[in-house]
Amino acid sequence: MPDRADICVIGGGPAGSTAARQLALLGHSVHLVERAVFPRRRLGDCLALGISQVLGALGHSDPSGLRPAELLARWAGAEHRSPTFVADRGVFDAFLLDAARTAGVRVSQPALARRPRRHDDGWRIEVRQAGRCFDLDCRFLIDAGGRAGLLRRNRRRAGARTTALYGYWRPGVRDGPGVRVEAGHDEWLCAALLPDDTINAMVFVERARCAALDGDARRRLYRSTLSASDLIGPWLGTQLTGTFACDATSSIAEGTVGRDWIKIGEAALTLDPLSAQGVQTAMTTAMQGSMAAHSILRRPGTAAAAASFYQAHLRRLARHHDGLAAEHYRRQYQVQDRQFWIPRAVAPS
Ligand SMILES: Cc1cc2nc3c(=O)[nH]c(=O)nc-3n(C[C@H](O)[C@H](O)[C@H](O)COP(=O)(O)OP(=O)(O)OC[C@H]3O[C@@H](n4cnc5c(N)ncnc54)[C@H](O)[C@@H]3O)c2cc1C
Repeated sequence: MPDRADICVIGGGPAGSTAARQLALLGHSVHLVERAVFPRRRLGDCLALGISQVLGALGHSDPSGLRPAELLARWAGAEHRSPTFVADRGVFDAFLLDAARTAGVRVSQPALARRPRRHDDGWRIEVRQAGRCFDLDCRFLIDAGGRAGLLRRNRRRAGARTTALYGYWRPGVRDGPGVRVEAGHDEWLCAALLPDDTINAMVFVERARCAALDGDARRRLYRSTLSASDLIGPWLGTQLTGTFACDATSSIAEGTVGRDWIKIGEAALTLDPLSAQGVQTAMTTAMQGSMAAHSILRRPGTAAAAASFYQAHLRRLARHHDGLAAEHYRRQYQVQDRQFWIPRAVAPS
């Protein structure tokens, strides 16, 4: 016999855990499937101050894994200091998932969700856990699987194609601001001292610049860019990990909600990492998305209105963040006339 729940949530990142908890608190039976063992590293460790409001609205008065820090930015020919947060995403994400468990969410972890298929009364999802497979039936499916997502849909690119090169370092020196952001010539850089006393140093470049590079050449590009930075280079000691690459292009999924499914978090919308608002936005889409799912399930007559409300919310968020990022890039372009900044300085229409 398949397991059964009203709602199945795929992915236990900030979006999935938040939506699962909200829906369980609203009285639904919720089953969440997360493939990774927690705690696990995740990109997105510098969180803008607005995260406090989001956590407050969710009733999380004392979240684990967050630490206040000072951000120093060298951008557009000026230096700017501001308060921010640094997250140990291993601890922070585990805290949110535990809060979902406490609210009554059933969690399968580590477990891989595969091949959602429609059946008479909703969806059947094949789940692989500890070498065995079981089917999970639900009326409503929430895709919170991050950038790759589980329900494949086309995505509309919203910004210039960008690759992030990153790695983890031992600090060389220990004083000074805990988060550093700098505009380079044809790239920008960001480094954060994490609560586990390692530094995550990232370099954001045009995708074409490193697409054809092999691992060694990519590593050289990464390390030479970091050493050329007065702000970040001297801060770094030994590199503790390899040099990794991932996509950092902002995008929005073409379809985000239907009569029995919804995409939330990065499965729906990815922001330019310059905003440092990816996690908070993933959580707000989860809050709005769970309200839409609740309306659709409890009052099917309101499904069309709930879906269009959610889609409009996502479009507004995307426009807002794309506009802010473009404004920042434009300021840098005004002091440095380089090709890298040009496509980034234009907000998509
Ligand atoms: C280079 C880079 C830098 C960034 N920097 C920042 C930053 O400084 N600040 C910030 O706020 N944000 C940042 N972000 C964005 C941030 O990482 C994301 O916004 C955030 O993690 C999204 O949360 P999520 O829950 O949507 O997805 P995720 O955190 O990706 O969680 C998705 C979860 O789904 C699970 N999963 C996926 N598929 C399956 C499956 N089939 N079965 C079971 N489980 C599955 C995964 O294991 C994962 O745990 C950055 C992103 C990038 C790429």
